[in-house]
Amino acid sequence: MDLTESADEQAFRAEARHWLRSHAPAASLPSFDTREGFEAHRAWETELYEGRWSAVSWPEEYGGRGADYIKWLIFEEEYYRSGAPGRVNQNGIFLLGPTIMEVGTAAQKERFLPRMASSRDIWCQGWSEPNAGSDLAGIRSRAVRDGDHWVLNGQKTWASRGAFADWMFGIFRTDPSAERHRGLTFILVPLESEGVTVRPIAQLDGETGFAEVFLDDVQVPVDNTLGEVNHGWQVAMATAGFERGISLRSPERFVQTARRLVALRAELAEDDPDAMDASLDDAVVRGWMDAQAYSLHTCWTVSHLLAGGTIGAEASLNKIFWSEMDIRMHAAAQQLLGPFAELTAAAPDARHDARWLDGYLFALAGPIYAGTNEIQRNIIADRVLNLPRGA
Ligand SMILES: Cc1cc2nc3c(=O)[nH]c(=O)nc-3n(C[C@H](O)[C@H](O)[C@H](O)COP(=O)(O)OP(=O)(O)OC[C@H]3O[C@@H](n4cnc5c(N)ncnc54)[C@H](O)[C@@H]3O)c2cc1C
Repeated sequence: MDLTESADEQAFRAEARHWLRSHAPAASLPSFDTREGFEAHRAWETELYEGRWSAVSWPEEYGGRGADYIKWLIFEEEYYRSGAPGRVNQNGIFLLGPTIMEVGTAAQKERFLPRMASSRDIWCQGWSEPNAGSDLAGIRSRAVRDGDHWVLNGQKTWASRGAFADWMFGIFRTDPSAERHRGLTFILVPLESEGVTVRPIAQLDGETGFAEVFLDDVQVPVDNTLGEVNHGWQVAMATAGFERGISLRSPERFVQTARRLVALRAELAEDDPDAMDASLDDAVVRGWMDAQAYSLHTCWTVSHLLAGGTIGAEASLNKIFWSEMDIRMHAAAQQLLGPFAELTAAAPDARHDARWLDGYLFALAGPIYAGTNEIQRNIIADRVLNLPRGA
């Protein structure tokens, strides 16, 4: 692993930093879990696209810069350092986009990728169902072929940003007689189709970050099938690998949280040195060290990939590490803030950085989404450690 940047990489960093400094919104945008915030984030994504920064690792022909993993890491570092808005189309750009590049037809690449990169189409992920979360192969939503169309029926749930998204990618049962993991097909569904009902779900903070999606005789062209019919499980697992691996949780996000945590500790100590609980220092130091370790591990992974390696089941280790680290850092901040930790930004007595509360609530979801951490531990036991199955 060589951490020295080449002249070309330094120039790329300088260009990204300069662009972000002159374009990133000065004030935070409203939350993308509100209609107003969603559209404000779409506009920001369009601006990123116009600067060719929305999907840096994509090929140039689809609006990217053909950046390798090192440049992708550099861009992510600059992005989080600049404090630019969260990525409203991450399900599209970071999950579905790479999957389409891997298994999509030439026509699908041309049709979907540029609109995704510019966020004219914002995507949500329609995998989970009321009785199929961890046990994803238990999905019951059906797709039945009728001439040039699939007819979809069923219910999806927990679709992040589904309340306002334009499209959903989902897996549907196409051969009910096949073994559970076979007989599934990956289908791209426009949410404006007749027969689709999107019902927003309010989260803990009251915003509609999720939606249930009901499908009643929804007709979708068979051209919207991604990968082979009845091989949707393999396509979904490729997407899940992108989600658990390096593409969605770039290290700088956690490095920035660690920086804010150290700054919070320093600020509180300056305000009232006698009130400081020294026992919390360990948690602050651990947060910093964990974030650095995660960052270096990502550099190692990138070196491994550039040397021709692949990421397999060990992506599950990564997912457990970042999700638990995120909770620990936010919990440490909550403890440092004491009674002020529970105040939202709008509270008259809010002090320090009220973003800690939102961040803490969101961090709690980390061990659940992208496959729960219990499931990741099963995968590690089974496929990384080759442990025998329990009785
Ligand atoms: C913030 C957030 C965003 C999400 N976004 C999306 C999205 O965009 N699209 C989408 O499709 N879904 C989304 N989900 C849903 C998510 O994928 C599921 O919640 C997750 O897969 C778990 O499924 P479940 O909720 O049905 O829980 P269950 O599968 O019912 O699990 C309940 C508990 O049992 C444990 N458990 C289950 N099976 C086993 C086992 N074999 N071994 C050990 N423990 C087990 C689980 O770990 C968990 O603790 C999101 C969830 C969250 C929290």
